Amino acid sequence: MQQTEQKKAVALISGGLDSMLAAKTIMQQGIHVEGINFFTGFCVEGHTHAIRNQDPKKPKRNNSLWVAEQLGIKLHIVDIIEEYKDVVLNPKHGYGAHLNPCLDCKIFMVSKAKQWIAENGFDFIITGEVIGQRPKSQRRETMPIISRESGADDLLLRPLCAQRLPLTQPEREGWVDREALHGFTGRSRKPQMALAEAFGFEDYAQPAGGCCFLTDEKYADKLSDLWQARGERAYELDDIMLLKVGRHLRPMPHFKIIIARDEGESRYLKGYTRMFPHMSLVSHAGPLAIVDGAPNEDDLCFAARIVARYSQGRDASEVRVKLVNKEQSQEITVKPMTVAEIEQTWHV
Ligand code: SF4
Repeated sequence: MQQTEQKKAVALISGGLDSMLAAKTIMQQGIHVEGINFFTGFCVEGHTHAIRNQDPKKPKRNNSLWVAEQLGIKLHIVDIIEEYKDVVLNPKHGYGAHLNPCLDCKIFMVSKAKQWIAENGFDFIITGEVIGQRPKSQRRETMPIISRESGADDLLLRPLCAQRLPLTQPEREGWVDREALHGFTGRSRKPQMALAEAFGFEDYAQPAGGCCFLTDEKYADKLSDLWQARGERAYELDDIMLLKVGRHLRPMPHFKIIIARDEGESRYLKGYTRMFPHMSLVSHAGPLAIVDGAPNEDDLCFAARIVARYSQGRDASEVRVKLVNKEQSQEITVKPMTVAEIEQTWHV
């Protein structure tokens, strides 16, 4: 293979093993590889896990940054929050099991990568896709759809399954050796694990359902509830970030309570106290809670009784709660709600 100039590829890096292996496979062929990670607001990376106190053994890290560090490549994190809304709200190819528009999402991300390589003088795009790995977005039939509808066409190379796909320009032109690519297929993770071992990667993230919260049933329920309560399918970044945090309860259609589940979440919600009515216990230890919607004074007292249930004063006959609404602060005394009463409220 003769090369006059070093070719450059951008790898879509999700933080999982597959994109890491795809990038490494191409790096081994002497290609200059840089990573790109798209920030949609729904990403699992670097948020919930960093906020909550649970899983102390799990390293608190952003896996896409960590993968780039392991590979020794530059990572470009690109904010696509605004443009991505249309993908979530109006997916041409529909949703997966929940509110995950995986096929449209892939097409969109590859199209952004195509734009990026044109602007940055790169030659082609690589992804960690494997035929048959995911039922909706990684099937044999979806591969050409992503290439075509993204506009990347044969500048999109999938190193992990390339041998089972038509030739791409990087292979045709001899920029990469097709023989040294792979022909992985199916849901088994064994070939990836073997390749990881061959590359000497011992530690890597294995995302369970997908790379974002839209694949999560509970998260999707909360997002649907938000749209229903507001009477429109729309969102801002704060809305979707808050759906990742706390216990969400909607006692009435016009307001919901978000109650921190641990200290980490209380600290996180504190950042939203200027935007929302909020409350915390005075007489006992308890969580911070914010109220989203249009609650009146009675609603806030009702909410305080619910929040009291999640405090150390849950069995007391009365607790003191500090309520802050529109910069007006007051202390009220309420009776914590009983479990039976709580169960009658609508848990989102
Ligand atoms: S899981 Fe989320 S980020 Fe990943 S392809 Fe599906 S919609 Fe896109």
